[in-house]
Amino acid sequence: MRKLIAGNWKMNGVQANLPQLDTLAKAHDNASVDVVICGPATLLGRMVATGLTIGGQDCHPITSGAHTGDISAPMIADTGATYVITGHYERRTDHSENDALIAAKTAAGWDAGLHVILCIGETEAQYRNGETLDVLRRQMDHSIPDAATAETTTIAYEPIWAIGTGLTPTPDEIATVHAALRAHLTARFGASGTAMRLLYGGSVKASNADDIFALPNVDGALVGGASLKAADFSPIITALE
Ligand code: PGA
Repeated sequence: MRKLIAGNWKMNGVQANLPQLDTLAKAHDNASVDVVICGPATLLGRMVATGLTIGGQDCHPITSGAHTGDISAPMIADTGATYVITGHYERRTDHSENDALIAAKTAAGWDAGLHVILCIGETEAQYRNGETLDVLRRQMDHSIPDAATAETTTIAYEPIWAIGTGLTPTPDEIATVHAALRAHLTARFGASGTAMRLLYGGSVKASNADDIFALPNVDGALVGGASLKAADFSPIITALE
């Protein structure tokens, strides 16, 4: 699998921000890594028109019906987007999403032909109590459906305490966690688990990208704040190439 750098615009972005994507598309049209921007649902179609690979940030577990305000995976695919994020901590927290729901959303993404970036991560208290690996293994066991393959699924490790805070684990800590995630994925999914991309996310920026991307079992990053402007995101893409 090629490495992957994914931007997550969260609840940001209106039409006036689209030129950022034109700049990125021009600068990285021959990128040796996969570059994806996960945008707000309102902009997905226009984002696709820039020529970049585009994803949604969440999808409903079923395809259509009486669910006011929700967006299904086939609707995301219909815009031309090809990726979707599931299990982001802001969804787990703000919308009380549990692992079973995230598994159902992940399967819905696959059914619509989308590649799913499934997020896992521990709280600061769990980190301080030394529970990180137990929490992550539990999240993987319950939120990744059995049918996951490297072609359909990428796992993003995002320590909750590192998201939007400017804090990151040390390189040794990231390497230790990613080695444990890899071992767990390989034990469960065999060769596909070994090939499944493992992203790090949480306060990735140009100044720490080189150190993070040099670590074994880090196949890219999920980037929030630093993905909004081409001038911030572009050097992170270059660091992964
Ligand atoms: P951040 O967000 O890069 O702004 O820390 C990462 C994420 O939430 O995916």
